[in-house]
Amino acid sequence: MKNMQEYIEDAEKALLHTYNRYQVVLDKGDGVNLYDIEGKRYLDFCAGIAVFALGYNNQRYNDALKAQIDKLIHTSNYYYNVPAIEAAKKLQKISGMDRIFFTNSGAEAIEGAIKAARKYAYLKDGTTDHEIIAMEHSFHGRTMGALSVTGNPKYREAFEPMIGNIRFAKMNDFDSVLANVTDKTCAILFETVQGEGGIYPAEEEFMKKVRALCDEKDILLILDEIQCGMGRTGYMYAWQRYGVKPDIMTSAKALGCGVPVGAFMMTERIGRNSLTSGDHGTTYGGNPLAAAAINIVLDLFEENHIIDNVKAVGEYLTGKLDQLAAKYDCIETRRGIGLMQGLVFNKPVGDIIVKALSKGLILINAGTNIIRFVPPLIITRENVDEMIDILVECLEE
Ligand SMILES: *Cc1c(COP(=O)(O)O)cnc(C)c1O
Repeated sequence: MKNMQEYIEDAEKALLHTYNRYQVVLDKGDGVNLYDIEGKRYLDFCAGIAVFALGYNNQRYNDALKAQIDKLIHTSNYYYNVPAIEAAKKLQKISGMDRIFFTNSGAEAIEGAIKAARKYAYLKDGTTDHEIIAMEHSFHGRTMGALSVTGNPKYREAFEPMIGNIRFAKMNDFDSVLANVTDKTCAILFETVQGEGGIYPAEEEFMKKVRALCDEKDILLILDEIQCGMGRTGYMYAWQRYGVKPDIMTSAKALGCGVPVGAFMMTERIGRNSLTSGDHGTTYGGNPLAAAAINIVLDLFEENHIIDNVKAVGEYLTGKLDQLAAKYDCIETRRGIGLMQGLVFNKPVGDIIVKALSKGLILINAGTNIIRFVPPLIITRENVDEMIDILVECLEE
């Protein structure tokens, strides 16, 4: 077998250089631990970026997927299949949304949400130059539509022109949203808790004011729950904490816990007045294998009381991170909810993350100065203690 360095050299000769990867070749996972091809163990506080909520190598999850593989992996959305029907019904129940469209990824869910909002506005007045308000520091994905609403000019610049008619407001600044509203505004879009942009939770008052504005002007509220959804904040979807229901929402990442799947969902009213037969489609979205993943994930969330664990261990993690923030001058603050947390440093965190990796801890950044904590939702207090011990070692060095 090749050693790790040889594999990395092979990778750098074959893969497009769009990532500066950490110098490790991962091989297998078990619970909250990952192992590289040389057998070294890592405690994982990244979970494939908020994906592997149930941890690695969950036997029930694996068995459900294997059974579906032996039965039927793919059909086409021109036919019904039982796993997708069941998954849609379960999603209706946990999200309070009425109409579900399955996608392959988060970005594709955002594309669908944008199309639904534009179609809704088009059906109302027959014109086509409607505007969407998105937020600064947002992240919605890398396809052209999703990039167009991503509030980081660095990601967009080389790929202009974007889809157009997008305005950016400041998150948690209602006046800035209001200042961007015109009679062409068809949707206001944001992440209930901003992820990549720096772990900024929406404030309750902001959520409520935006909802009221949307109701008053018949603007659609689209919430991106791709990272903050699926239990991560201690609620199945983060907006449920505020009681502010969107008209359209997106989900992905932990939705399939590793099988690539996403969804955009909407209320019955929007479902009846937006996308219709022939307006949208996907070859793979919600195929039997992907849907089987959603079904077993949602079953295991319930059986294993995942939400309760997030609330309990999330509070514990919050306390521990607050202690670090108080103790170390290089840490400015902590932000986040539940098991979606960020430690904001007054300097770049790349070195700390590389050091942690060498000590068997996987962390991820959000922007240059923030360490993001998005572990599997099954982590225990002991796992948090182990993570904190390693992080402290890195900070002391
Ligand atoms: C990851 C992410 C996306 C994009 O999802 P992909 O599956 O990578 O396309 C969109 N929105 C948010 C909030 C995300 O965190």
